[in-house]
Amino acid sequence: MSRLDSMINRLVAQRDILNHVAGLIAAVPGPVLELGLGNGRTYSHLREILPDREIFVFERRITAAPSSIPDADHVILGEIRDTLPFCRPRVGGAAALIHADLSNGDPTDDLARRAWLSPMVAELTAPGGIVACGHELDLPSFTPLALPAGIRPGRYFLYCRR
Ligand code: SAM
Repeated sequence: MSRLDSMINRLVAQRDILNHVAGLIAAVPGPVLELGLGNGRTYSHLREILPDREIFVFERRITAAPSSIPDADHVILGEIRDTLPFCRPRVGGAAALIHADLSNGDPTDDLARRAWLSPMVAELTAPGGIVACGHELDLPSFTPLALPAGIRPGRYFLYCRR
């Protein structure tokens, strides 16, 4: 498969997954944490499908399209490993949804990130809340969820906090 085909599949999967998890958190209070703003595509989609949620974005360097940059109160700038454990005063309660799209495609980086990110997201997710991540996480107090139909297993990982 060409990288173009792979990118198209990835974007379709991200959209379908975000639509799916938006339904799953309907009854769960709390903000959404978007880890990795990047170009702002998934942030823009989350804003559209969850218009009543506060969405906080974590990013080391803002390079998104201007229309997809949140206001300053909703951007937490810096290394996520440094900011995420101390974000509670900014974000308020535990999160209904944490979406982590941080991978650069290097499996070694993914493994290293998995080790430090897993306990941080576990700490910040509300009961019944969802974590959607582009790579696997170690979340023993969560139930792994199936991906929506048609999405290749392993493309994304979904977890629900028990
Ligand atoms: N979901 C985004 C979109 O739809 O446009 C794409 C996100 S892109 C794959 C990953 C982003 O995460 C990059 O902008 C990168 O700077 C950011 N990032 C990766 N690791 C990070 C870290 N440890 N701390 C802060 N930002 C990080």
